[in-house]
Amino acid sequence: MSRVLDTFRNQVRDFTEKEIAPRAAEIDRANDFPTDLWKKMGGAGLYGLTVSDEYGGTNQGYLAHTLAMEEISRASGAIGLSYAAHSNLCIDNLYRNGTPAQREHYLPRLCSGEWVGALAMSEPGAGSDIIGSMSCHAEPRGEMWVANGTKTWITNGPDADVLIVYMRTATSRYASKNLTAFLVEKGMPGFRAEDPMDKLGMRGSNTGSLIFEDCAIPQENVLGKVNDGARMMMDGLDAERLILAGGPVGLMQAAFDLVLPFMHERKQFGQPIGKFELMQARLADVYTALQASRAYTYDVARRFDHSRALRKETAGCLMFASERAVEVALAAIQILGARGYMNESPAGRLLRDAKVYEIGGGTNEIRHILIGRELFVETDRQQRAEYLTGHA
Ligand SMILES: Cc1cc2nc3c(=O)[nH]c(=O)nc-3n(C[C@H](O)[C@H](O)[C@H](O)COP(=O)(O)OP(=O)(O)OC[C@H]3O[C@@H](n4cnc5c(N)ncnc54)[C@H](O)[C@@H]3O)c2cc1C
Repeated sequence: MSRVLDTFRNQVRDFTEKEIAPRAAEIDRANDFPTDLWKKMGGAGLYGLTVSDEYGGTNQGYLAHTLAMEEISRASGAIGLSYAAHSNLCIDNLYRNGTPAQREHYLPRLCSGEWVGALAMSEPGAGSDIIGSMSCHAEPRGEMWVANGTKTWITNGPDADVLIVYMRTATSRYASKNLTAFLVEKGMPGFRAEDPMDKLGMRGSNTGSLIFEDCAIPQENVLGKVNDGARMMMDGLDAERLILAGGPVGLMQAAFDLVLPFMHERKQFGQPIGKFELMQARLADVYTALQASRAYTYDVARRFDHSRALRKETAGCLMFASERAVEVALAAIQILGARGYMNESPAGRLLRDAKVYEIGGGTNEIRHILIGRELFVETDRQQRAEYLTGHA
C-alpha cells in the first residue's frame, strides 16, 4: 500500500471511529438513517473519490474508494451500504455518463453530502433477469419522457434527492432489450418513494420502493444515450461489485476486532479460551478469510484503476468476500458463545449485515454463472485462435 493510501485510510478510520462506530448499534436498533452523518461524511471528503475536483470530488480512484468502503463498513455495515449506493452507484455512474451540464448541476451537491443519491434497477418482477424482465418503461412525448412502473429494494430510495433510474424505452418489440437511464429528482410530479422496508440486516440503510405514475422526465435528464442503458448498467455493475467487496472485508475486520480481545479475556478451565487449540484454529480461519478477501479485492481495485475490463474479477472478489464474511460472522458468534448470541453483542448484526452481500448487486449464483461463462468463453476463443494459427 502506498504512503498516500495509508494516510488516507488512517484519516477515514479516525473519522469512522469517532463519528460512526459509537452509533452503529443504535442505527441498527432504530432502523433509522442518520441524516446528520451524511453531511459530515461529505465534509470529511468521503464522497466523489472517483470524481475530478472541478465537480467536488477528490479523484483518488477505485482502490481508495474500496478502502473507504472497508473502513466505513468496519464501523457500521448499514452506513457502508448507503455510502456505496450514494458514492459509487449514483455519483460514479453520473460522473462517467453525465453531460457537463448534468455533472455541474448534481455532482457538487452529491459530493458535499447536501444531497443523497441512489440508483434503481430492480423491480418486483425483475431481479437477476433485470434486462429481460424490466417492466418500468418510459415513452417519449414531445420534449419529455413519461415514466410508469415500480422499482423496489432501492438503497437510499426513501431519502434520495436524485436517483439514476433505468427504464425500458424500446419503441418496437424487435428492440425489447433497449433500456435508458434517467436522472429523477425528489418531488418530480408522478414520482414518489415509499417508506423504508423492515429488513433482516443493514438496518438504518433505508431500502424502499419507488412509484412512477405518468412521471414526466425532461429530455435533459436522460443519462448517457437513449437505449444504451443495458450496456451502462453492466459497466456500472463492474464498479459496483468491486466497491461493494470492501463491505464484507470491513465486516470481517470488525468480527476479528471483536473476537481477538475476547479470546484473551474469557477464561474457562482456568485459562483464556485463546489457549485452546480449537479456538486458535477458528481464529486462524477468521484471519485467513479476511486476509485472502482483502488481498483479492485490493488486487482487483488496483487493476481497475488502470482498466475496467475486469468483469469476472469484480464479480469474483465480491463473491469470495461475501461468502467468507458470512462464515466469519458465524465463527465470531461461536467464539463468543452465548454472548455472541445476545443482541447486545455486535456479532449478530455483523452476520445480518454480511448476508446482503450474497444477494445485492446480483446474487452469488449469478456471479458464479458470470465467472464460469467468462472463463469458458475466453479459453474457447483462445483455443480456436491457437488452432487457426497452427493451421495457417
Ligand atoms: C438490502 C438490499 C439493497 C438493495 N439495493 C438495491 C439498489 O440500490 N438498487 C437496485 O436496483 N437493487 C437493489 N437491491 C436488489 C438486488 O440487486 C436484487 O435483490 C438482486 O439483483 C437479486 O434479485 P432478486 O432479489 O429479485 O432475486 P431473484 O432474481 O428472484 O433470485 C431468487 C433466487 O434465484 C436465483 N437465481 C435467479 N436466476 C438464476 C439462474 N439463472 N441460475 C441460478 N439461480 C438463479 C438467485 O440467485 C436467488 O437465489 C437490493 C437488495 C437488497 C436485499
